[in-house]
Amino acid sequence: MIEILIASQNEHKIKELKEIFNHTEIRLISLKELSDFEDVIEDGESFLDNALIKAKYFANKHKRMTISDDSGLVVEALDGRPGIYSARYSGKGDYENNLKVLCELENVENRRAYFVSEIVLCYPNGVYKSFRGEVHGYIANEIKGDHGFGYDSIFYMPEYQMTFGELESEIKNRISHRANALKLLKENIDEIINYK
Ligand code: IMP
Repeated sequence: MIEILIASQNEHKIKELKEIFNHTEIRLISLKELSDFEDVIEDGESFLDNALIKAKYFANKHKRMTISDDSGLVVEALDGRPGIYSARYSGKGDYENNLKVLCELENVENRRAYFVSEIVLCYPNGVYKSFRGEVHGYIANEIKGDHGFGYDSIFYMPEYQMTFGELESEIKNRISHRANALKLLKENIDEIINYK
């Protein structure tokens, strides 16, 4: 069994990541389990920059192999917004973020959007690898479903005719941007396990 630190204070993300890593040789531990409540300023210009800032910082601080995920929603008709500003798009909470996107897309025909997850795995010596996952869908016309977090309730998946907010978490965790990035990470699992 190998332990990897998750550089995140976001309980939803930690839960999702832990569920995805269930039944593998990897045990994920959170910052909270190390009594570390520090937040790092994410002032990068891309998902990758921000993921790297967090993974490098905590890998060095705790001298442990660390993963971080920087993720967000990219809306085609909004020139990629909210993008790296997804978490703080309205300056308020998730609900207001959703309303802001719906409002900006009022009477807009092109509702194509995708989630991005950029996962960085950083070794204590600063060497890192990155893995990018995406999941494509549409912005719904209204808020639907109360599962998940963030923009789940307005992200519509035509294959399931439901928003992520209506989908069972088990299904979302199989098809999400984070799951897709982690699939790539898992392809490198032997190298990770053999890291000395
Ligand atoms: P981060 O914690 O800086 O990566 O911010 C990610 C933000 O993107 C979250 O606060 C959500 O608003 C949004 N986001 C990322 N992943 C998801 C997801 O799986 N569902 C819904 N919203 C997400």
